[in-house]
Amino acid sequence: MSASLNARIAQVFDEPGCELNQNKSDKERKKGCTRQLTPGAAAGGCAFDGAKIALQPIVDVAHLVHGPIACEGNSWDNRHSASSGATTYRTGFTTDINEFDVVYGGEKRLFKAIREIVEKAHPPAVFVYQTCVTAMIGDDVEAVCRRASERFGTPVIPVNSPGFAGPKNLGNKLGAEALLDHVIGTIEPERSTPYDINIIGEYNLSGELWQVKPLLDALGVRVLSCISGDGRYREIASAHRARANMMVCSKSMINVATRMQQRWGIPYFEGSFYGISDMSSTLREIARLLVERGAPAGLRERAEALIAAEEARAWERIRAYRERLAGRRVLLITGGVKSWSVVSALQEAGLVVVGTSTKKSTKEDKERIKEIMGDDAHMIDDMTPREMYAMLRDAKADIMLSGGRSQFVALKARMPWMDINQERHHAFAGYEGMVTMVAEIDKALFNPVWGEVRKPAPWEPADPLLAEVT
Ligand code: SF4
Repeated sequence: MSASLNARIAQVFDEPGCELNQNKSDKERKKGCTRQLTPGAAAGGCAFDGAKIALQPIVDVAHLVHGPIACEGNSWDNRHSASSGATTYRTGFTTDINEFDVVYGGEKRLFKAIREIVEKAHPPAVFVYQTCVTAMIGDDVEAVCRRASERFGTPVIPVNSPGFAGPKNLGNKLGAEALLDHVIGTIEPERSTPYDINIIGEYNLSGELWQVKPLLDALGVRVLSCISGDGRYREIASAHRARANMMVCSKSMINVATRMQQRWGIPYFEGSFYGISDMSSTLREIARLLVERGAPAGLRERAEALIAAEEARAWERIRAYRERLAGRRVLLITGGVKSWSVVSALQEAGLVVVGTSTKKSTKEDKERIKEIMGDDAHMIDDMTPREMYAMLRDAKADIMLSGGRSQFVALKARMPWMDINQERHHAFAGYEGMVTMVAEIDKALFNPVWGEVRKPAPWEPADPLLAEVT
């Protein structure tokens, strides 16, 4: 690894905003935060993939992958990040290097690719992603980007996060570093108001940001930039003029929040859009921070009035499902805040949560589970697919909510399943999102297909005694 990449990784591994990181010794911190991967196990994405996931939701820029075509194919838009306008981000740009480039270097090809993109697509900026092969043959992506920016008069941003640098989470942070180094603070906004905030670490999956934005609009709070869901280059470049930052629960871009606090004195808080009580605390916190930073005090009262009205409406709508869903058992296999933040909405709809996974949850997450569910009997630290299957087959749960990777376990047990992780097709954020989630569970549970697939196949003898004889 080049010296500059090593230094950058060391910097990312020293994170003042992460308690866990700060409690480590210098030696432990150097090792980073990743667990050793088990050979043969599915390992999640590489660092390049992580950087791409973090930045691809910026919708009006061209994302150019400098490497073999498979890297781009591997990472292209697998998360349903939605755009309200520009669609440049959905075009897969790659230099698609070949054997000759490996021998002679791929810098010229990269320069030509940038020229072609600028001439044909006219994006406000081009993001260039380094990958394993081009990093190993020594292509100096940063130098090419500098030249191309000067030559074509368009910002060309190097994202130095080759796959071998580490896992996906590290890539998220290295992608964020590119924004901090080359984008944020480079443009002044046309106007700024005391109600301006940035939302950091929200990717607008299936349009979740749009479930939250109307609430902020109702309060008169302006999202100066969302980093990076439905993001625009100019907005992110002028994000340094916001009055407060909200960091969405996952710490994937915590370095943006801490660095913006250090550089421009913008305070931040960690909040979540999942779950009714969390949505309310987020709105409260936004109002509090903005008032502290000079917005009129009436904002806090407006926030309380909005919370009261929205909560009442959401509970009412969720309650409508109670009759059908009462007593149905849910197995929740997810991680982090979702391991508890959706539980109260499920309980309100009459569902019984028989277990929630805590593999990726922090100590605080576990405390919250205990608070909501009474004891730790419902916590599942690690569940093998075999155990999940047994639980569903023995009908200890009626539906499983999990990520796409475990869906086939449920389908094999002929039990309903719903995607609750990042590849989901429905938006579950804010008050509206919780109602959608309960409605989707209702649809999954009562889908007539379950009755059909559980019937014996026509060639199977219906009589169990006959089955024993044959
Ligand atoms: S590990 Fe390297 S080669 Fe594989 S997808 Fe990531 S960047 Fe590309």
